[in-house]
Amino acid sequence: MKGTTVPEKVSLTGRFFRYDPDFFFIGEEINQLSMVSVQEAKSLIQSTVPVLYPEQKNLSETVGQVLAEELVSPLALPPFRQSSMDGYAVHHADITRAGTLLPVVAESRAGNATLQTLQRGTAVHTLTGAPIPDGATAVVMKEKVDRTADAAIIQQFPVPDGQNVRSVGQQIQKGDVAMPKSTYLTPGSVGFLLGMNIHSVKVYRKPSVGILVTGDELVQPGDGVALEFGQIYESNSAMLAAVLRSEGIDDVSIRYVADNEAATIQALRELTEQHDMVLSSGGISVGAYDFVGTALREIGVEEVFYKIRQRPGKPLFFGRNDDTIVFALPGNPASTLVCYYEYVLPALRLMSGRTDCFLAKLKLPITHAFSFQGERDEFLKATATTEAVTPLYGQESFVLRSFAIANALIYLPSSQNSVQPGDLVEVHLLPFFF
Ligand code: AMP
Ligand code: MG
Repeated sequence: MKGTTVPEKVSLTGRFFRYDPDFFFIGEEINQLSMVSVQEAKSLIQSTVPVLYPEQKNLSETVGQVLAEELVSPLALPPFRQSSMDGYAVHHADITRAGTLLPVVAESRAGNATLQTLQRGTAVHTLTGAPIPDGATAVVMKEKVDRTADAAIIQQFPVPDGQNVRSVGQQIQKGDVAMPKSTYLTPGSVGFLLGMNIHSVKVYRKPSVGILVTGDELVQPGDGVALEFGQIYESNSAMLAAVLRSEGIDDVSIRYVADNEAATIQALRELTEQHDMVLSSGGISVGAYDFVGTALREIGVEEVFYKIRQRPGKPLFFGRNDDTIVFALPGNPASTLVCYYEYVLPALRLMSGRTDCFLAKLKLPITHAFSFQGERDEFLKATATTEAVTPLYGQESFVLRSFAIANALIYLPSSQNSVQPGDLVEVHLLPFFF
């Protein structure tokens, strides 16, 4: 059985089979020395990638970005003593037994502009979020009170001092650090900061990305676009734009070039001038029509590494041209996407000021046996739950059918080249894992 031929009506999940004629490529080990390991590649990315300049932005548009300044609270929260319940503000010592009767002399509701004062031996009807009258030490919740026309019969005893009272500055004091620099902003952050009237913040910019697609065999998909013999539909650019969009990066431009040296040089020169990051797809192997490597050298991109001891995605190039980061991704779609998640995404996050840049990791038992040979580490498309992980049928680098339903990658270092069901393996969760 070979390639993408999956029997009809059989779920992709839970079935694993590999036959790839390139799998045991005799002579591949000769090349190993010039390659970097997966870990070396990751630390080279961490030490190379610059953080972009910050920008001032409206807070509500910053979710998913990283704070580039420390924020200090301009006020105490809550700004006044606040009730956390609908009920009756009292002096706790006035309640001497269950059934104590107190005349209700006033009401304090949310938004009340004047501060009431509680006379001992009385109660003030006080609602959630409302100022607690001066002199009151507790609020008894409404459910523990019987009402008459003008009195409250308190059925709770004893009433602890401070019950249901939010003190001034209980959440944060004026002048306290509200949020340290480098905090990743979430919807919760927006709510918290707006509560202090902080509505404009300095955040690290997200990179702009230029994508270059190479390949004479590629045809843009569209209504009525038929393939001629030897052609395939081009999908890497839309796939890359999609993963970038899901990371909040929308300043993306895409260019297509033929497998032609001059055109590749010209396009890469322009893209590196215009963008913080350039991703190329295809043309980075050693074929006669692979011009990306030559073009990158020609325009002066400094190589940090070329080729990683991994499968898929061995011929990944990573380099830098002044402030522009360049990844030349292998064109096989599954390689493109593995390289994106394992290396490009972390680089994008580092540029945007994040330090926790890699996919989240779990150790999970694998449901099926898997073994491989050679010196390269393996990334397997998989479906994971919080309990276990299942490698998917179709791990070859041209196969996206498995990736289309994967929510995780299994990372098997070459030292762990034979696993049995139940063995713990390292699982990298894709960003939409849930
Ligand atoms: P390359 O890295 O240029 O040698 O391409 C490797 C394989 O990936 C070839 O089978 C290409 O046809 C395929 N490929 C390259 N670029 C794309 C793309 N943009 N969309 C879909 N398949 C591609
Ligand atoms: Mg090509």
